[in-house]
Amino acid sequence: GDGELDSVASHLPSISASRREHRWDDTTSFAAKKKLQSWIQLPNGNWELGKILSTSATESIISLPDGKVLNVKTESLVQANPDILDGVDDLMQLSYLNEPSVLYNLQYRYNQDLIYTKAGPVLVAINPFKKVPLYENDYIEAYKRKSIESPHVYAITDTAIREMIRDEVNQSIIISGESGAGKTETAKIAMQYLAALGGGSGIEYEILKTNPILEAFGNAKTLRNDNSSRFGKLIEIHFSETGKISGANIQTFLLEKSRVVQCTEGERSYHIFYQLCAGAPTALREKINLKSADEYKYLRLSNCYSIGGVNDTEQFRIVVEALDVVHISKEDQQSVFAMLAAVLWLGNISFTVIDNENHVEAVTDEGLDNAAKLIGCDVGELKLALSTRKMRVGSDNIVQKLTLSQAIDTRDALAKSIYACLFEWLVEQINKSLAVGKRRTGRSISILDIYGFESFDRNSFEQFCINYANERLQQHFNRHLFKLEQEEYIQDGIDWAKVDFEDNQDCLSLFEKKPLGLLSLLDEESTFPNGTDLTFANKLKQHLNSNSSFRGERGKAFSVCHYAGEVMYDTTGFLEKNRDLLHLDSIQLLSSCSCRLPQIFASSMLAQSEKPAVGPSYKSGGADSQKLSVTTKFKGQLFQLMQRLESTTPHFIRCIKANNFQSPGLFEQGLVLQQLRCCGVLEVVRISRSGFPTRMSHQKFARRYGFLLLENVAYQDPLSVSVAILHQFNILPEMYQVGYTKLFFRTGQIGVLEDTRNRTL
Ligand code: ADP
Ligand code: MG
Repeated sequence: GDGELDSVASHLPSISASRREHRWDDTTSFAAKKKLQSWIQLPNGNWELGKILSTSATESIISLPDGKVLNVKTESLVQANPDILDGVDDLMQLSYLNEPSVLYNLQYRYNQDLIYTKAGPVLVAINPFKKVPLYENDYIEAYKRKSIESPHVYAITDTAIREMIRDEVNQSIIISGESGAGKTETAKIAMQYLAALGGGSGIEYEILKTNPILEAFGNAKTLRNDNSSRFGKLIEIHFSETGKISGANIQTFLLEKSRVVQCTEGERSYHIFYQLCAGAPTALREKINLKSADEYKYLRLSNCYSIGGVNDTEQFRIVVEALDVVHISKEDQQSVFAMLAAVLWLGNISFTVIDNENHVEAVTDEGLDNAAKLIGCDVGELKLALSTRKMRVGSDNIVQKLTLSQAIDTRDALAKSIYACLFEWLVEQINKSLAVGKRRTGRSISILDIYGFESFDRNSFEQFCINYANERLQQHFNRHLFKLEQEEYIQDGIDWAKVDFEDNQDCLSLFEKKPLGLLSLLDEESTFPNGTDLTFANKLKQHLNSNSSFRGERGKAFSVCHYAGEVMYDTTGFLEKNRDLLHLDSIQLLSSCSCRLPQIFASSMLAQSEKPAVGPSYKSGGADSQKLSVTTKFKGQLFQLMQRLESTTPHFIRCIKANNFQSPGLFEQGLVLQQLRCCGVLEVVRISRSGFPTRMSHQKFARRYGFLLLENVAYQDPLSVSVAILHQFNILPEMYQVGYTKLFFRTGQIGVLEDTRNRTL
């Protein structure tokens, strides 16, 4: 009964001591199981807490809370923690750090709106999908004064500020998690705290206003999240020596362009299109020939125009106000809206067959007229650019007519490029407005909000890039935490070379190795005019089959063993998406336009293509200039990002969603567990266990087990007593290390001692 539990609890270290001393072993012997409650996995996969009625080495009888009694295999039982540890705010305080215990603890807290929990150095945030009373000003004040200690984004942000000032080292807050898990909200909450603490100059207000702008242009409703970011973002916030915000800089990664021209039923394109259609005042509507959203084919495709609880008209007002705040002139704002309307009208351009070889021509109608007018070019020129392609064959210039699918691809590529350039241009303008003054003496805190690991039924190029990025970030995460471990070993004089440490280098090499890695082979195949997704897939199988992280699949598919699980990729569309070509005809068209933005876009595209290509050159079709492939560019950005992050002290926040319905109160164990694995929370545990996770001071060890000694020891000092105990119990030398102040043990070693102690007491 309870008495039993109490006596067990009193054997455990008290929860107020330092977390390091609480890492006990999961490998619970059958003797210890006898006294405790235990986790049993039900057929539906959920874990249930049961009381052990009787147990033998092979079978146990368990009673469940609902009164049911089960007969189960003893080895299937997983040790539960005593009640006094219910809802601890750091998972490392748990005596038994197994999956059901971790889940139970998180759920216990979540049910009380305690959405934040520490997992050692990592903050776990579980999306409440409702307003929780954790963000009022008095909370900010309390964390600032340090009068409150429970885990919070504010607390981790506060630590970052303090360490930045104390150590004079740049800091980073790295937020990850699946789509809809709460990364973007968490980033905003961190920014809010930074603004509250470092505000004063007014620049913090501008920084906060970048959020509605970037969300309008870079977020969209998806099936997973009504406000899903379709790009990655790093915002670096600079502080003066006195700890005041002096400026900021934003870098974005890999915007999902394809959404502009197509999206799944029930999803939307970027918010800004609907906001513009709903909220543009009459004068603007007339100027840019704007109609309602359902008049535009690009927006009609997915049959979804509104989001529950969101007023696009009001949002438009908020975005315009924010654009004012970051000093984007009214004139520039008009140009931005004109470009958005141009993209929408491009989508309405249709084609008609003009000969018996199925060549087509753009129909001269409202769509073509408006698109031409808005980008500032001649209708005839736009028509030509969308229906033909100039080619160089030998020394001759020839004009090739396009088929319907080629023409549609050309039109869509133009629309996508205009949108992507517009997005980049906006970020650039924002950065100019937030720019730090010349005297850049202080330090910075960077917040990274980047797409988490993705594994769907069908995984394409986008998942390939996203998961590659996550593999890189995971390595950063592992190495950092491993470094923390090492520091502790070094401090205590432990030979840390004896710590074996597995990391995901194999998988990263699979991506990055030259010339035979996934990225190199993709780039190579992308340069071959006759390369197809199938030839690419075959090359992978030919060259990479011996790699343990790779597996060839049937047809055009292959699988990669990521740290977070195996993902099968379908190579359909890989080459096209990697090349991401905009034909020279389209670029030339934009550069000849009379409007300012298209000209800027064209020159930035040309500048990109003229750069000495680090990767291969793209000459498919013959007339296109060299251009970096999407993966090459992304890899470069990623390396730069990692370099920046490596010079900072990182703070990790892992966002978790408790259900797939964006609904409050529902906690799905399986879903949470899968994310805990993917985002490395359980990995933290694994890493700490791969070394010498159990630590105990010499004193404590001597006190706890000294009475088990069969012979008297010559010296009674804690170290001598400890060593005598180790010898008596035949603990193998490779299983422990003796530090200056502590003893370090491999997983499972303390179990024997505990068992004997429990039997003896
Ligand atoms: P992600 O960026 O990871 O895809 P978001 O940050 O956009 O996810 O969060 C998705 C939604 O979840 C938000 O629009 C909001 O409704 C809800 N949400 C996330 N975090 C919180 C929070 N701390 N409090 C209340 N609601 C939240
Ligand atoms: Mg987001």
